[in-house]
Amino acid sequence: MKKWLFLAILSLSIGVVFIYSTPLLHKNRGTQSETKVVSNMILREPPVKKIQTIDINEDQIYLGDLLLVNNTFPIKHGSIKEDIVPLSSIEGLEKQFGTSIHSISLSNEAGLEFLKMMEAAKMDGLLHFSVNSGFRGFEEQANLYKEMGAAYALPPGYSEHNQGLAIDVGSTLMKMEHAPEGKWMAEHAWDYGFILRYPKGKSDITGIEYEPWHFRYVGLPHSVIMKENNFVLEEYIQYLKDHKTVSTTVDGTEYFVTYHPVTEKLELVEPILSQYEISGNNVDGVIVTRFK
Ligand SMILES: [Zn+2]
Repeated sequence: MKKWLFLAILSLSIGVVFIYSTPLLHKNRGTQSETKVVSNMILREPPVKKIQTIDINEDQIYLGDLLLVNNTFPIKHGSIKEDIVPLSSIEGLEKQFGTSIHSISLSNEAGLEFLKMMEAAKMDGLLHFSVNSGFRGFEEQANLYKEMGAAYALPPGYSEHNQGLAIDVGSTLMKMEHAPEGKWMAEHAWDYGFILRYPKGKSDITGIEYEPWHFRYVGLPHSVIMKENNFVLEEYIQYLKDHKTVSTTVDGTEYFVTYHPVTEKLELVEPILSQYEISGNNVDGVIVTRFK
């Protein structure tokens, strides 16, 4: 009899517990699934932070396509691009410009992008470009400075032309400022890694008056980021220092750009994309451009 009573009380209490807990279960159904997701996340293995270590030394501050060259930061002899070639050795350019470019040289990498740009301009009906200057060695710059004087030329090391990434482009029709060629370049050069280095309204920052003909190769995605933010190179270098990372997608390629003051070992933490390029800023650090 006692056993019966015990079992009866037990089953009754289970029933009571079930009845009382049922509405609670219903009430919490919505949040229950969320809890489940959260607990799944907790249960999952914590992601392992991938770290890529790159050896870096102080010399790298002064090498690459993103060097800031101006009155404050001249470039060193060792900063000259190693792939300087006569523009006439680039087949398509020789075809378009003929003998007029025989004495003009540029970094091969920049020259190939310049060719792509000229081909695109031609497709848009622009046929009257001229190339007036490219790479100038330190000696050539010194002679120019002596001949032209401080008002018209820069001393060796202080001109962007001394590195091999700057090109002066003109129009055979009229002054670049008014020419359709100048307008086209100002709009499209960025898509090919070139920047209008000395734009209107920025001479207080660049230290150089508006030069609608002077284009500087910095490569992608930097030229595009600079255009989107209306940055000159001085502003972009500072922006990278302040923000440390910038990511963007250009033509379907993902880019992840980071600034690093120079230390002995450079540790790149995720995201690690498949390829990277390093350029100094000519000031105090390096800029790593990762992409895939
Ligand atoms: Zn120039």
